Amino acid sequence: MALSTEELLANNRSWAASVKRKNKNFFEDLAAKQSPEYLWIGCSDSRIPPNEVTKTGPGEMFIHRNVANLIVHTDMNLMSVLQYAVEILKVKHVIICGHYGCGGVLSSMQNASHGLIDKWLRNIKDVYRLHRKELNLIDPTVRANRLVELNVIEQVYNLYKTSIIQRAWQKTPNTPELHGWIYDMHSGLLHDLQVNPKAAYAEEFDQIYRLDFPDLNTVAGTKPVEKSATSGNSVAAGTGKIRIEPLPKKK
Ligand SMILES: [Zn+2]
Repeated sequence: MALSTEELLANNRSWAASVKRKNKNFFEDLAAKQSPEYLWIGCSDSRIPPNEVTKTGPGEMFIHRNVANLIVHTDMNLMSVLQYAVEILKVKHVIICGHYGCGGVLSSMQNASHGLIDKWLRNIKDVYRLHRKELNLIDPTVRANRLVELNVIEQVYNLYKTSIIQRAWQKTPNTPELHGWIYDMHSGLLHDLQVNPKAAYAEEFDQIYRLDFPDLNTVAGTKPVEKSATSGNSVAAGTGKIRIEPLPKKK
């Protein structure tokens, strides 16, 4: 039977007391500062407690969760978490963790309307559309598992497209590291999908998603740009650069 909320509060008191018995200053030390090395972006599903499955404790992991672990670039909640984690906390790793049997992913494969959440699940339908050929060849009973994986991979790519990660990588390449993981509820094990957005996505990314940051004085992520009085904006495209000439002055 589910616990009452009074029992949850009583559990909390006994937990705090047991932690203090082991380390008298635990809460005071933790209250002073947090410096987590990981940002975990996972599904809201109640069966995947990030700290528990990674054996990490309070203060070790900055956490954001939403239905089906999506990176939506207009989601100010997630973008604020990401910016704070990367630029202020300076996390070393960003982990996107999906899971087999994800209700959000399963719902996205059906046509039934579930109200407001349809708009959120639309993002997974877009992943399906991108990978329709591969998915339609897979046995329907296991097709959802592959969509769960493809969804994580696409969300790592979405992370890579954000100005927040692009700025960070222009300052220090590959920092923070991006990871795509899957949690298997039947075994309790995490699987690393070894997603490398740079290798898998380089050409398309270079052409359209890459942003240049004039204040970092770099273009294309690595080399400083020589400033010139006549230079217009430039857009990196593949291996070369497309020049955009300044607009002529009005007479
Ligand atoms: Zn889920």
